[in-house]
Amino acid sequence: MGKYLSLAFNIPLDRTFTYSLPEGEDRKGGAPLIGCRAEAPFGRKKLTGWILDETDTPPEDLEADKIKPLLRIVDSEPLFDAPFKELALWLADFYLCSPGEALGAMLPGGRREKELPAMGSEDDPGIHAAVTLTGDQDRAVGRILREEGPFFYLKGPTGSGKTEVFLQCAEGVIREGKSVIYLVPEIALTHQMVDALRQRFKGSMALLHSHLTPSQRLTEWNRIRRGEALFVLGARSAVFAPLDKLGLIILDEEHEGSYKAGSTPRYHARQVAMYRCRREKARLIMGSATPSLEAWHSMEEGAIVPVNLTERVGGGVFPRIRLIDMRRESQLFSDDLIREIVRVTGEGDQVILFLNRRGFSYNYSCRSCGYELVCRNCSIPMTYHKEKGGMVCHYCGYRTPPPAACPDCGSLDAGFSGFGTEQVEEEMARLFPHLKTARLDRDSTTKKGEGKRVIEQFRRGEFQVLLGTQMVAKGLNFPRVKLVGIVLADTTLNMPDFRSPERTFALITQVSGRAGRYSSGGEVLIQTYRPEADALALAAAYDQESFYVRERENRRLISFPPANRLYRLVFRSRKEEEARKACERAAGMLEHAGEKDLLGPSECPLAVVANNHRWHLIIRTEEFSRTHDRIVWCRDHIDLPSSVYMEIDVDPQSIM
Ligand code: ADP
Ligand code: ZN
Ligand code: ZN
Repeated sequence: MGKYLSLAFNIPLDRTFTYSLPEGEDRKGGAPLIGCRAEAPFGRKKLTGWILDETDTPPEDLEADKIKPLLRIVDSEPLFDAPFKELALWLADFYLCSPGEALGAMLPGGRREKELPAMGSEDDPGIHAAVTLTGDQDRAVGRILREEGPFFYLKGPTGSGKTEVFLQCAEGVIREGKSVIYLVPEIALTHQMVDALRQRFKGSMALLHSHLTPSQRLTEWNRIRRGEALFVLGARSAVFAPLDKLGLIILDEEHEGSYKAGSTPRYHARQVAMYRCRREKARLIMGSATPSLEAWHSMEEGAIVPVNLTERVGGGVFPRIRLIDMRRESQLFSDDLIREIVRVTGEGDQVILFLNRRGFSYNYSCRSCGYELVCRNCSIPMTYHKEKGGMVCHYCGYRTPPPAACPDCGSLDAGFSGFGTEQVEEEMARLFPHLKTARLDRDSTTKKGEGKRVIEQFRRGEFQVLLGTQMVAKGLNFPRVKLVGIVLADTTLNMPDFRSPERTFALITQVSGRAGRYSSGGEVLIQTYRPEADALALAAAYDQESFYVRERENRRLISFPPANRLYRLVFRSRKEEEARKACERAAGMLEHAGEKDLLGPSECPLAVVANNHRWHLIIRTEEFSRTHDRIVWCRDHIDLPSSVYMEIDVDPQSIM
């Protein structure tokens, strides 16, 4: 008697495919094949899929002799079990993707196991020293381990010792014989952090993140499956770690956008964590100094238990934050910023300058005819990189030399406005020729280890000024940094996205939380053309509560989250006409099905990316499950030309 297996493939078809098991591929003793990968013929191709079911009889709607045999079984032991399969099916259902697309995001892809390279030595004495918790910390651990929950939020300023609370909760849970997942944003997974945790959890720790090779991920995955690891540290996708007896998930820096996946399935680690914790009767602790508006709203509603840390472990006062109105200034550096740089460096202390924009300048336009230069593949203004001697598109990488005159009318009255880190560096050298400034951004750190080296040199005091994009955040913890300047807050604030104010508020609060950590007299200067904007004015006043209340009201007025929920459908195609028509068709279908609150169809703010035209449709809803069903119906029945790709985003983080 033959065996029949149904396989899910990582393709956007919401179904499984049946194959027969050829002689010789069966497992000894009839061990289960569910959870293993298999290679199978698919059209004229060969695809690897995951086995979801096995039966002794073929499905009723298929004739046995039409069923093709699969080619071979890839794994010697399954990658997942029945509860994991259920998680995958839930993910596919919730985020509207196929089971295979869900599994593709959840599972390692490696074929052969490969050991992780050894990190730090096993017995560095320094880190073992058990710390005595402060009263605040001790109460927090007690509440998290004893109260019902199951969702907790550890809110406290940077330096209030949240990490130690997380780790003691983890140890408490492990002592009860259960296991823990500790999630951090990718960027926070530094060598120091990994080393410190490995020394604490020894061989019972596993590590999952995107810098491992697929084979290394497979090794870690199997260790977790075999129960050898009780503490899993990792970035976003580690939320799927196949732990038995899950007791706790920790989600550090909850507000970070990187917890949301940028491709199908567009899952949010917080949502998955909540689902897993509810189903597996585990606890979830989120933590941050700046909760997302959604998390804050849930705390107000009582769905998440707030646990506060108010004191800073080592004392330390918060710096004064001042807003500089750039409408009264004519230069890149305001008089105030120049004066403070002179003062702070004169006293032997250090400065960090922050600008969320790489390159030298951007926005090339012609004052004679109004021409604006954008990437030929994308609709986005190109950035001039002086060091590379050309213009670069930050979305698709297209390069072109800068024009000598307006490409449209030939006028010489054309040029760039707006500046990036390269230009700030040049201006620093002009204004302060005696100061040593290091620049840290993706262009200055193309060589591996370069960023780490620059930060180390800054730590040792070899530079007085560290200038860069978000990457300089790691230097913020140094005791001699007395001044943080945000060269232009408007680059973050003016993004055409509903979360821009929230992101700006969090950025400023995080930056200033770090700046004053070790000393008094710290200063944060924020240059802006919009000093009256709530996100800036309330951050400068350390008035988090008012910001959340106002921002929630602003969102309520436009029926955006957290008051409502959003779905976003994006249609992309090489031909604009097709993207637009597909979007209009979907809008018509959804309206016909009873969906009332559609925004669009309209062009996406990023209207063309890498030659793909993008149109979108935003659906605001209070009736989540009904809207969900209508979108499923639309996806399954819409007639799209093969040149159009449809992206579905549930609870989008960004609508660019
Ligand atoms: P947060 O995560 O809230 O920003 P950290 O966990 O980084 O704060 O803690 C700040 C610093 O205080 C760290 O260097 C940490 O090692 C130290 N620390 C935390 N708790 C204690 C404690 N109970 N006793 C002494 N030092 C502590
Ligand atoms: Zn012109
Ligand atoms: Zn481009």
